Amino acid sequence: MPEYRTEPLISTCASGLLPEGECNRRVALTSFNTRENRAKVPAKEVVCYECGRRSRVPAAALSANCIHCHAHLRMTDVELKPNSSRLTVRTLGNVTVQADAVLSQLSIVCHNMYLNGKGNGSFRCTGRMRITTDTQIDGEVHVGSLHISRGTAVSFTRGAFADTVDIYGKVTGRIEATGKVKIHRGAQLCGDCYCPMLILKSGASHNGRWVKNVLSALQ
Ligand SMILES: [Zn+2]
Repeated sequence: MPEYRTEPLISTCASGLLPEGECNRRVALTSFNTRENRAKVPAKEVVCYECGRRSRVPAAALSANCIHCHAHLRMTDVELKPNSSRLTVRTLGNVTVQADAVLSQLSIVCHNMYLNGKGNGSFRCTGRMRITTDTQIDGEVHVGSLHISRGTAVSFTRGAFADTVDIYGKVTGRIEATGKVKIHRGAQLCGDCYCPMLILKSGASHNGRWVKNVLSALQ
């Protein structure tokens, strides 16, 4: 296959040959652009938040397009300030809601979510969601791991779905997990819990049913 060149080969010399310096420069350019050199660019694997399929992108990229559905994928971290008018965020990076913010009708898709201020809405995170403030969440919560910090009271109107859950504060609402749910010392869960393993540390309390087999409960 002929090699793709970005510059046309035009010689200013009557002989048609390139000057020596120019010739060396072009050799250097084309010899760098080999398949082996291109493979050395550090890459990372990302999961498209529109179609759920995996693409490889350069590790330093701030955005990319999904090779499957061509969706534009943002990779930057987003910080939502108290006066933020931005309520819908789609990113493969992390999202932080600042401590003094009170935001509602959020629609967040991200990797890690740090809810340090009050944020109501729906959340879909491939990584971790950490809640460090009292808040009520009326939308859907679908996260990798859910962490409720000590001293906080969180209520999930429509429940929360996660792989693993660690509760250090007080949670009201239904919890569904594919893995372990841990209610740590002094923590409290008011609501049904659907998970294969529920761990209650000493001093922890659970008001509600524990359904061990999630699949049978859903049928
Ligand atoms: Zn896609």
